[in-house]
Amino acid sequence: MSSAASDLVKNFEDVRQRIDRAASRAGRRAEEITLIAVTKTHPASKIVSLYDAGARHFGENRVQERESKLGDTANLAATWHMIGHLQKNKVARVPRIFTSVDSVDSIALAEKLDRAAGESLKSKNENGDLNPHSGDTRLRVLIEVKLDPEPAKSGASDGDLPRLVEAILRMSHLNLQGLMGVPPYFDNPEDARPYFRHLRELRDNLRKGLGARALPVLSMGMSHDFEIAIEEGATEVRVGTTLFGQRDYTE
Ligand SMILES: *Cc1c(COP(=O)(O)O)cnc(C)c1O
Repeated sequence: MSSAASDLVKNFEDVRQRIDRAASRAGRRAEEITLIAVTKTHPASKIVSLYDAGARHFGENRVQERESKLGDTANLAATWHMIGHLQKNKVARVPRIFTSVDSVDSIALAEKLDRAAGESLKSKNENGDLNPHSGDTRLRVLIEVKLDPEPAKSGASDGDLPRLVEAILRMSHLNLQGLMGVPPYFDNPEDARPYFRHLRELRDNLRKGLGARALPVLSMGMSHDFEIAIEEGATEVRVGTTLFGQRDYTE
């Protein structure tokens, strides 16, 4: 194994241990928490190294970048998360290359995804690619809630959330599993805690109308604050830099 690959495996094991410790501080089980390795800007070879080390969930934020790594990652039995802002003209390509879209923030986008997921299902049926025993064929989605007041940041507002939830629950090709959010960056990750708590409370309020087991997923926490997010109830954390080092956007 190259030294870069062995660093990656060591970083992966360190993050897993930190997740375990944060979970036990919060009286939770580590198995409740999914680690999504955020692989944007990193080559497919590193995805394969992490997969060999045991990673099964990967996040990308651009359709084209995911497509560029498809050839080298097609035979991994992994779950692929779209975690970035989705351009409407790329939506049709999404169901074939992602298992989950974690960044749905409008009814218009949800409608386009619902249609694309329906089309993709139809073509799989016609090609005989659909495994009749695979169970739920819907596209998994999360709603991204805007936690950062910065105008350029994406996400649905708190006020729009109930209507968006209701609309997606009526769409036959989408499987709404929960909420995702990105708080503002703070030097002290402890300062992000109220934002994580707020996302959990939004979910808990929605449960009053939908039932105690609705929307089980809370995707929150990144490299510098995932332990705080776990203490506040995260079930999925999205970690890039702590696994791979700083991203280089110039390549
Ligand atoms: C890039 C990205 C991450 C990973 O961020 P790191 O700080 O590198 O861990 C997580 N979530 C989203 C939505 C991202 O775009």
